[in-house]
Amino acid sequence: MDNYVKRQGLRDTFGRPLTDLRISVTDRCNFRCTYCMPNEIYGERYKFLSRDAVLSYEEIIRVAKIFVQLGVTRLRLTGGEPLLRPNIEELVRDLAAISGVDDLSLTTNGYRLGKIAGKLKRAGLKRLTVSLDTLDDEIFQRMNGRQYGTQPILDGIQAAEEAGFMPIKINTVVQKGVNDHTVVELASYFKARGHIVRFIEYMDVGNRNGWRMEQVVSSKDILHQLNEEMPLVALSKNFPGEVAARYRYADGEGELGLISSVTNPFCMDCSRARLSADGIIYTCLFASFGHDLRTLIRSQTTDGDIVKFITRVWSAREDRYSEERGAHSKQPAKKVEMYHIGG
Ligand code: SAM
Ligand code: SF4
Ligand code: SF4
Repeated sequence: MDNYVKRQGLRDTFGRPLTDLRISVTDRCNFRCTYCMPNEIYGERYKFLSRDAVLSYEEIIRVAKIFVQLGVTRLRLTGGEPLLRPNIEELVRDLAAISGVDDLSLTTNGYRLGKIAGKLKRAGLKRLTVSLDTLDDEIFQRMNGRQYGTQPILDGIQAAEEAGFMPIKINTVVQKGVNDHTVVELASYFKARGHIVRFIEYMDVGNRNGWRMEQVVSSKDILHQLNEEMPLVALSKNFPGEVAARYRYADGEGELGLISSVTNPFCMDCSRARLSADGIIYTCLFASFGHDLRTLIRSQTTDGDIVKFITRVWSAREDRYSEERGAHSKQPAKKVEMYHIGG
């Protein structure tokens, strides 16, 4: 690592540090959420990454250690669906043991959580986010594209509570005319259980979900709906770069978050890099291309050279897609898909 980076910490062209790494452990998923992996595209014949193409746990751990040397303190496992990867708790255990990792979390659709929550906790996973878009079974079946009801997810959340994950974050993507009339019910259900719902504006990630601005429900509208039933009070951020605006319920019980990636972007606080399951680094959720780390780690390259590679990539980073979204006259021809880098 050169002396400048050692002194200043790694910074991109806007002075943003590199503090978070999101690691996608698989591109496969048992759901087909309409906004992420629509069934029409990701059908039976869709070709996912081959086993060889996907980074092994040893490779992921090596890369994670290098990122930590460069200033990353927070790791999140994601996918596709991370709980589909066999023995994921072994990866969790080894990542948790890296000195300098202050936070280790995982985002899941919750379907397999009932079986594995205890193992994840014992392996050292600190925090869990479960995605659940509505409590209405019929709407949920449509949104997950696989006709799954909500019960396995609610059971998974309960298993996670019993394993000691508390509070759990619940990620809810809100789409106009689809689930926006169910947000109050969902918020109130999880408020009573002490979990933190985070309503996410539907985003134009990738090129395959047919996103249109008219389908976005703004955080402002969601807040308005919630305030009518359960008044909220704004809170300050837990740390710089936190993506959700935080609120507490005025009655003193519980917290909630709003992620306004479309209507109120937060690019200047964005200190996250993303590693795809096949070892490509992306410096933005909306990137058109990534940087191939896998070829490097599979070609006898030293850790020092990988440090130099990541340093070059991050130092040249100029991404601020969401802040410029309004200025794009049309969508970029190619953007990485969400299931590839995990949100
Ligand atoms: N499969 C896991 C899950 O669903 O939690 C992890 C990967 S998933 C891609 C990560 C998060 O991205 C989920 O909370 C999901 O709801 C969110 N997401 C996917 N597509 C989105 C979109 N178009 N807009 C907003 N959020 C999206
Ligand atoms: Fe799978 Fe998560 Fe994408 Fe839904 S959002 S299709 S659960 S990767
Ligand atoms: Fe970060 Fe890119 Fe999202 Fe902006 S658009 S917050 S740079 S991931």
